[in-house]
Amino acid sequence: MHVVGGGLAGSEAAWQLARRGIPTVLHEMRPARSTPAHQGARLCELVCSNSLGSCLDHTAPGVFKAELALLGSLVVSAAHHARVPAGGALAVDREAMSGFVEARLAALPTLEIRRDEVARLPEEGEGTWIFATGPLTSPSLAGAIQARLGRDYLYFYDAIAPIVEADTVDRSIAFRASRYDQGSGDGDYLNCPMDRDQYEAFVDLVLAADQVPAHAFEQERFFGGCQPIEAIARSGRDSLRFGPMKPVGLVDPRTGRRPYAVVQLRQENLPGSALNIVGFQTRMRYPDQKRVLRTVPGLEAAEFVRLGSVHRNTFIDTPHLLGPDLALGAAPYIRFAGQIVGCEGYTESSAMGLVAALHVAAEVAGKRLSPPPGDTMLGSLLAYLRAAPARGFQPMNVNFGLVPDLAGPVVRDKKERRRLLGRRALESMASWARSEGVYDPLALAPGPGVRASDAAGNVPA
Ligand SMILES: Cc1cc2nc3c(=O)[nH]c(=O)nc-3n(C[C@H](O)[C@H](O)[C@H](O)COP(=O)(O)OP(=O)(O)OC[C@H]3O[C@@H](n4cnc5c(N)ncnc54)[C@H](O)[C@@H]3O)c2cc1C
Repeated sequence: MHVVGGGLAGSEAAWQLARRGIPTVLHEMRPARSTPAHQGARLCELVCSNSLGSCLDHTAPGVFKAELALLGSLVVSAAHHARVPAGGALAVDREAMSGFVEARLAALPTLEIRRDEVARLPEEGEGTWIFATGPLTSPSLAGAIQARLGRDYLYFYDAIAPIVEADTVDRSIAFRASRYDQGSGDGDYLNCPMDRDQYEAFVDLVLAADQVPAHAFEQERFFGGCQPIEAIARSGRDSLRFGPMKPVGLVDPRTGRRPYAVVQLRQENLPGSALNIVGFQTRMRYPDQKRVLRTVPGLEAAEFVRLGSVHRNTFIDTPHLLGPDLALGAAPYIRFAGQIVGCEGYTESSAMGLVAALHVAAEVAGKRLSPPPGDTMLGSLLAYLRAAPARGFQPMNVNFGLVPDLAGPVVRDKKERRRLLGRRALESMASWARSEGVYDPLALAPGPGVRASDAAGNVPA
């Protein structure tokens, strides 16, 4: 068994395999070769922020981490071990977190950690492989993946537009229509209209907003077809309204006239609970992004499922290529895990390592693992990765927009509704994990001394 990449997903996958007594080699190319973002040689290195997001029970990241804790996640356990005070968020001392992971992995007799770069995909008969080489997969391996999968199935950049919760858009302002009424009758888009003053003020705010600086290795993005809105705004005051904000073919029913500019929202998921802001990929920092977008008429009270970003990210076209077990359809002895399968974020990436390894372990035991239920954060993210529209597939993080709504009467209080959705997810995950024989809850408590439930490497029967 080989796991390639000793980042978040690879460390998790190697742990889950080797602790079950499955002989495993973990290949990590650092320190001989590094990525443009990693700083050192440690396993499970956090490349940027030291936060794994909220731990609160009414937030999607909070529920997600609690689900992973039920499955004995090494990364979640390490994060709790290395926790530093950060209110409701799980922020960590990154050195302590890596140290915890390295110590656990080093203690596994069935795990060999090999510091080498894997530059090709294996052929049948060379073992079972999990590739968890991340958003900055080494160029030689990325080339080999592209050669095997085909040029159109490996992407190198994310250009993510923000997604808003549909029920937070003010429908007394936003109107439904397609350009020249070419949609499904009612119109496929919600349009937030602007008059000239509103447009000019919006452009000023976009130009003044604080932005995430591009890394040197990300510059080429700006020359591609997918420009962030602030780059478009910089190229001329009218550029946005001749670009993603163009109003042609639209009439605002409140005025009977064509607006000066529009912000268009398009349905993002099947239930229609999430809407994508069309063409609004942006590098504005998250707080500025929210502030600026909430000045758009109709979005004053918008809540965001996901904020926009533009960054380098190697990821494959999972909906086309991988099965529910993250195995490559054409070569099932190869699995992919981590951010490279099209998820976003530290916890999401780790979870994909966990899932890939659980499938391999089941296979070794002569069993098959059924997919986690769709009302869990994990199950709904996996379902997204399989069902996302193949054209324009973009990475995703966990969010409540991916899970079905509660059955029964509508719960108006949002926090309470989310808490109930979270409770349902955890019950569902616990029952699935028990029935699949992968229930292994961590004994988590704040502060040092937190341990994985099986530091000795044993999995409870
Ligand atoms: C610049 C940047 C900043 C980010 N910031 C955040 C953030 O703040 N918060 C957040 O939640 N997410 C962030 N992400 C997204 C994502 O969560 C992280 O990239 C996360 O580390 C992904 O986990 P992973 O295990 O898939 O990949 P990684 O953690 O990157 O692990 C991949 C490992 O594979 C190794 N490797 C690569 N190629 C080979 C090869 N051919 N052979 C052997 N080893 C190889 C690498 O050295 C690395 O150790 C960021 C991503 C990037 C690129």
